[in-house]
Amino acid sequence: MVKKTEANYCLKKNNTFGINVKCNTLLRVNSENDIFQVLNSNNFNKDDFLILGGGSNILFTKNFDGSIIKNEIKGIEIIQECEEYISVKVGAGENWHDLVLWSVKKNLSGIENLALIPGNVGAAPIQNIGAYGAEVKDVIVKVCAISIKDITLKQYLNKHCNFEYRDSIFKHQLKNKVIITHVIFQLSKKPNLNTTYNGIIEEIEKQNVEITTKSIFNAVIKIRSEKLPDPKVIGNCGSFFKNPIISLKKFESIEKKFPEIINYKTKDGKIKIAAAWMIESCGWKGYRSGDAGVHSNQSLVLVNYGRSTGNEILELSKEIIKSVKQKFDITLIPEVNII
Ligand SMILES: Cc1cc2nc3c(=O)[nH]c(=O)nc-3n(C[C@H](O)[C@H](O)[C@H](O)COP(=O)(O)OP(=O)(O)OC[C@H]3O[C@@H](n4cnc5c(N)ncnc54)[C@H](O)[C@@H]3O)c2cc1C
Repeated sequence: MVKKTEANYCLKKNNTFGINVKCNTLLRVNSENDIFQVLNSNNFNKDDFLILGGGSNILFTKNFDGSIIKNEIKGIEIIQECEEYISVKVGAGENWHDLVLWSVKKNLSGIENLALIPGNVGAAPIQNIGAYGAEVKDVIVKVCAISIKDITLKQYLNKHCNFEYRDSIFKHQLKNKVIITHVIFQLSKKPNLNTTYNGIIEEIEKQNVEITTKSIFNAVIKIRSEKLPDPKVIGNCGSFFKNPIISLKKFESIEKKFPEIINYKTKDGKIKIAAAWMIESCGWKGYRSGDAGVHSNQSLVLVNYGRSTGNEILELSKEIIKSVKQKFDITLIPEVNII
């Protein structure tokens, strides 16, 4: 059943930046039928709505003058099993970390490096969440959704999702066109361990344990808890910007001026630059103006110390983009969805 909240609903607790904004109505849906009901209703304005998961990748810059659909579809269901793999269909409203925990408890491998990423399962394919050498695209079989225009069920196979670094078709052609209801993942019954990120091995060696799905999971949790600010303590959305990917030619000319620039080679011969390093070298680390700021340990994370408005954080992000552009001739792109 669709649960409708009162008019002028306060969203402060529904976004991890903790921005104090309101929306006209918040509709909590927990089944495909609920979504059909909302989309078929005469009151629903298809041009003025927002789908919300855990609110951990959204910056509200104003009150939202429309309806918000909060996807709360639950369920973790094994739909196929063979000697090597299981396929699992997960409701978009399941908490992402709870799914990781479920898989590790069942000794299934594939998402342990993505432990402790806030938010819900339905948003995971949208920006192809990634961390510590892993990306969710590598375990997604298909994404199930409801098309808003024709109010029908759709399925998008992995190869049709155009997954890239923090990107997918759901951020472009399908933005605001579909509501993701379920994601189907394939997880490995045999350990398929990813230790490409050096810090994981270092952490496991410190703990003097074997490299297993569980020890990777624990190492990731330890590293993340030490490195990233907890949104319950200080409002933030994790990395505010993507790490820019540039051509080798452009990189070589920048490297001449800044030999210490932190960079990584990508599989297709391009260069990924650490945005945090550039932001820090422009002097932003620990900067604060009113209640908007740049975290003192993680320059990629913009924070709300309490009463910042979304616009103050947006203005700060624009200043950062401007100074990085001036110094390095690279334009930072926000990873966070600005509303
Ligand atoms: C402390 C912290 C650390 C983080 N670390 C990482 C990290 O390591 N790696 C990483 O990739 N991300 C990271 N993030 C960002 C964030 O956790 C992910 O992007 C997450 O997937 C967002 O999920 P959500 O449910 O909160 O999405 P929301 O913020 O609610 O929504 C994000 C976008 O998806 C849309 N959307 C949400 N659900 C649906 C749906 N069911 N159907 C259609 N559209 C939908 C929304 O309209 C919005 O545009 C971090 C965030 C925080 C706060």
